[in-house]
Amino acid sequence: MVRVRFAPSPTGGLHIGGVRTALYNYLFARKNNGQFILRIEDTDQNRYVEGAEDYIMKALEWLGISADESPQRQGHFGPYRQSERLNIYKEYVQQLLDNGLAYYAFDTPEELEEMRRELQEAKASNQQYSAANRMQMRNSLTMPSEDVEKLIAAGSPYVVRIKLPSDEIIEVNDLIRGKVSVQTNTMDDKVLMKSDGFPTYHLANIVDDHLMKITHVIRGEEWLPSAPLHVFLYRSFGWQAPQFAHLPLLLKPEGNGKLSKRDADRLGFPIFPLSWTDPKSNEVSEGFKEKGYLPETMVNFLALLGWNPGNEQEIFSLDELTKIFNLDRISKAGAKFDIQKANWLNEHYLRSMPTSKLAESFMALAKQEGYSCSMEKASSIVPLIIERCTFIQDLWNNGWYFFVVPNEYDDKTVRKKWTAEAVNVLKLFSSLIVKLNTPKSEAIKETLEKAATELDTGLGRVMPALRVALTGQGGGPDLMGIVEVLGVEETKKRIELAIDRLKV
Ligand code: GLU
Repeated sequence: MVRVRFAPSPTGGLHIGGVRTALYNYLFARKNNGQFILRIEDTDQNRYVEGAEDYIMKALEWLGISADESPQRQGHFGPYRQSERLNIYKEYVQQLLDNGLAYYAFDTPEELEEMRRELQEAKASNQQYSAANRMQMRNSLTMPSEDVEKLIAAGSPYVVRIKLPSDEIIEVNDLIRGKVSVQTNTMDDKVLMKSDGFPTYHLANIVDDHLMKITHVIRGEEWLPSAPLHVFLYRSFGWQAPQFAHLPLLLKPEGNGKLSKRDADRLGFPIFPLSWTDPKSNEVSEGFKEKGYLPETMVNFLALLGWNPGNEQEIFSLDELTKIFNLDRISKAGAKFDIQKANWLNEHYLRSMPTSKLAESFMALAKQEGYSCSMEKASSIVPLIIERCTFIQDLWNNGWYFFVVPNEYDDKTVRKKWTAEAVNVLKLFSSLIVKLNTPKSEAIKETLEKAATELDTGLGRVMPALRVALTGQGGGPDLMGIVEVLGVEETKKRIELAIDRLKV
């Protein structure tokens, strides 16, 4: 039975990279008829950010990534918030202490600082608290046990550290990267339990992965350096380690270096799935959702950021992905965050939406702007403009002139195309269309042709003038469609107004 987890720390807004990790775990679980667990790793009291957990839930919900077990959905392995599992960690730390695999350390911050300074001066190859220097420090390996007991009884602050062996090679078998070996002499005796009685990430993470029967740890590449320690901890407990798969980094669009919020800001795209307000600075960052990206787009886009289907297909629904996703096709190389691709996908999904749904969105946007629009009118506008939209909001940017008489006219078009010849045709045209029985685009086109022919001119010399009179713009969607939606009376009115306003 496959069991995987997404284990975010609620230390701020969930980055898009974290969302990808969640997605890959979810897809892998679904593909293998396994379980996807959401575990909140909130043991770092100093970095805890109010609202971050709720944000994670909302972001996953938006994308349709549902957990089988989570703080909101209890399974048999809860609680699913690490701060509610403190007693469990205490018990396991004790086990390591009892077996001589971990030790108490009483060193003060000043003593640790001194240690670092000395190691630096000595140009030691390993400048951390480790097997090489721990026998010179104040810990339960160097102090008589009565002293240790006394200090603990007196409430002196202490941490518990792992006791790493020297001169050993630890191997991690990563499903994506292959075998990774690390020499223990380069590692440090990491803290497992902090002085506040909270476990560190390393301890809590592996205790929970074990107790929650996690079979595959799928997480970002930034955790690869921690994997040897994790493997060692599993071994110390006598547990079988899960399989590891470290996902490639998300790179800047240019491809050089890790994608950061600063890059995203600089290039004008979001880094958070939903809008996020930093509680400290109150800075609001617009999310992909608010920017107008559809959940389908994000799922499709993120799925392809580091994974490929092995063929040319580019459009995938969440459901389809749950049938074909596998770890074999995840690349080692970092994935460039190509926002143009996301835009292209969004256009695709926008155009695939039913007209009625788009029309409803259009109506809502019109209402926001203070205009009322019927379903019928919205349904006739949407097909005209949808090809020009990347985001839902673009519907209004491309359709406002159906409600508002333009106040400005595109300069270049006016200069080049607003001619006496065109104006004469437009006059004739507006007097003819008001007589049409069925002012549909076919009939409108015939009328325009008729007017042009009568005055001995071509359509090409008239159309730009008609467009600029009706919309103020030099380009846009099908002109006959615009006339049809505006209606003949409004068309006539706008032509007259433009003639009034624009010189020839
Ligand atoms: N809590 C870690 C994080 O914030 C989890 C890393 C892991 O998946 O092991 O990313």
